[in-house]
Amino acid sequence: MSYVTHLECPKCNWRGPADEVTQVCPVCSAPLLVRYDLPAIKTAVHKEDLRDRDASMWRYLEFLPVDDPSEIVSLGEGYTPILRLKQAGRGFRELWLKDEGLNPTGTFKARGAAAGVTRAKALGIKEFAMPTAGNAGGAWSAYGARAGMKAHIVMPFDAPEINKKEAWACGADVRLVRGLISDAGAIVAKACKKYGWFDASTLKEPYRIEGKKTMGIELAEQFDWRPPEVILYPAGGGVGLIGIWKAFDELRAIGWMADDVRPRLVAVQAEGCMPIVKAYDEGKPESQFWQNASTIAAGVRVPKALGDFLVLQGIRETNGAAVAVSDAEIEQAVRELAEQEGTLVCPEGAATYVAARTMLAQGMIRPDERVLLLNTGAGIKYPELLTAELEVLDPGAEI
Ligand SMILES: *Cc1c(COP(=O)(O)O)cnc(C)c1O
Ligand SMILES: [Zn+2]
Repeated sequence: MSYVTHLECPKCNWRGPADEVTQVCPVCSAPLLVRYDLPAIKTAVHKEDLRDRDASMWRYLEFLPVDDPSEIVSLGEGYTPILRLKQAGRGFRELWLKDEGLNPTGTFKARGAAAGVTRAKALGIKEFAMPTAGNAGGAWSAYGARAGMKAHIVMPFDAPEINKKEAWACGADVRLVRGLISDAGAIVAKACKKYGWFDASTLKEPYRIEGKKTMGIELAEQFDWRPPEVILYPAGGGVGLIGIWKAFDELRAIGWMADDVRPRLVAVQAEGCMPIVKAYDEGKPESQFWQNASTIAAGVRVPKALGDFLVLQGIRETNGAAVAVSDAEIEQAVRELAEQEGTLVCPEGAATYVAARTMLAQGMIRPDERVLLLNTGAGIKYPELLTAELEVLDPGAEI
């Protein structure tokens, strides 16, 4: 049996059992969090036990909602490398990049999908639907195929080409909407009601946070339980930031991370869609729908996130920040990081680098702080953003 004790609403404190299909809080419709018997985990497992385990996110099994390891639906996700950026990190005490682009399906969405699909399958779900900006649809289609489940995916018609194709290739029922992820969400909600499909929308099911949480546990372990003082994350729905925040709380609760280790969490958004940054600047507890959302960083093109209040709480409680950057800066940073470090990152990952530079220049990052960027996806998934103009030669030509 897993160490999960119950599901809990972070807004109204509703509690409910974790062994039945549940979407959002039945009282107030907020996203639910999975709670564990942390004292029991503390007794059952020790840091040293990790040494002999798989190099995947399932090495943190006790922190995951798995009753029996044979249930796990996996493509080998997690345990991604952390790279020191020496060239690009000039001026910083230490600049690090955790490269989530090495995950199956090329993004950290694999972690959320692995946990979400594993739990959905264990609960007997055979068919699910979800709106997506792109990468979540690719990941959930892949894990759905692996689990033998049927996936219905709706994404904006201008989502990255690769996301449409990967979901299609994995056998999902893919549809495009002339609109944003919020429009896709409305269509999915209606279809779920009509057909009885499980709604796997971001934060409308409690378990993808648990998968993304493993990024936090993992980077803590990789830094010998003293992760960098500042962690920058490109926030769309903000699930990764909520997950890392939750991970650090759980690690402190069981004594794996010292009480004084309190990394500052920074949400990075694009100037063309920055609802969380605006709410943060205005001291509001929730964001407002961002009109005409537009950015080349498709993963953070989310006009209104269901878990925005948790993201804002996470930022404020950790003394973090919320910062927006421009598309032009993002494009330039993709080239810069690739040229200087060999790391071809996704636009969302590049945004965190721009934000870190800005924060350092403005004194929001101190010279004695170590900084970690989360590159949430592989740059090679975005060929349309790289406009390489190359000379073409005839055979036998001299150069
Ligand atoms: C989905 C996505 C994000 C944003 O993730 P959230 O959990 O929605 O905040 C960032 N980067 C990439 C590449 C993504 O696919
Ligand atoms: Zn509630």
